[in-house]
Amino acid sequence: MAPRPVETEAILEKLQEMYPDAKCALNHSNAFELLVATVLSAQCTDARVNIVTARIFPRYNRPEHFAELSVEEIGEMIRDCGLWRSKARSIQGLSRMLLEKHGGQVPSTMEELTQLPGVGRKTANVVLSNAFGIPAIAVDTHVLRVANRLGLADAKTPEETERQLMARIPRELWSPAHHWLIHHGRQVCHARNPQCSQCPLLPHCKFGQQGDKPAGRGTRPAGRRAKSAERRARSAETARRAADR
Ligand code: SF4
Repeated sequence: MAPRPVETEAILEKLQEMYPDAKCALNHSNAFELLVATVLSAQCTDARVNIVTARIFPRYNRPEHFAELSVEEIGEMIRDCGLWRSKARSIQGLSRMLLEKHGGQVPSTMEELTQLPGVGRKTANVVLSNAFGIPAIAVDTHVLRVANRLGLADAKTPEETERQLMARIPRELWSPAHHWLIHHGRQVCHARNPQCSQCPLLPHCKFGQQGDKPAGRGTRPAGRRAKSAERRARSAETARRAADR
């Protein structure tokens, strides 16, 4: 069951207190760089993406730079990020579409962004929020897990989780709340071994209060729900990538 409004407010206040400086961890200096970095970040750490982009952005950081390259040439640059062929196709395809349809500029609407190859709602929300300052909640695996464990959402998919979070969280907090949830997922509320006994959110978290076993596979119903939602999110992402091929 979703928390009462007062609990939502308390959870958000605590998260803000815990992660006052939370922000996008992908290094970028413009919307196009952020778009490419976010495409590269699928199933790859932000730290690894930053290493790769530090190598390529000084020379390649505009759509025209990638549009003329082959998938293999782009793949050579980004191989360290994994899934290189699919990501290289996306970067080549979105660069060409930006040149053909948007004058080489990254558009600032969900509708236009999600028409670019390899760009789904999560990537679009990252760009809208961090490059254009438009309130948005990008639901990645951390946001999905933490939001559902905390009861800020009770949803099976990233789309439904996003919708419920937007309904529950004040619009001006959408973007920071997204960063707080990611940080909490990375630092405390891990997928397999959440640090509930040390978590300041424990008084507000039914999932954390439901026992002393680590929330691994098959431990608690809420844990199973969150894990299963994560699996579905991963399957959806794999299917989306396959469709882009
Ligand atoms: S109490 Fe446990 S499950 Fe709840 S938010 Fe904290 S770490 Fe996550």
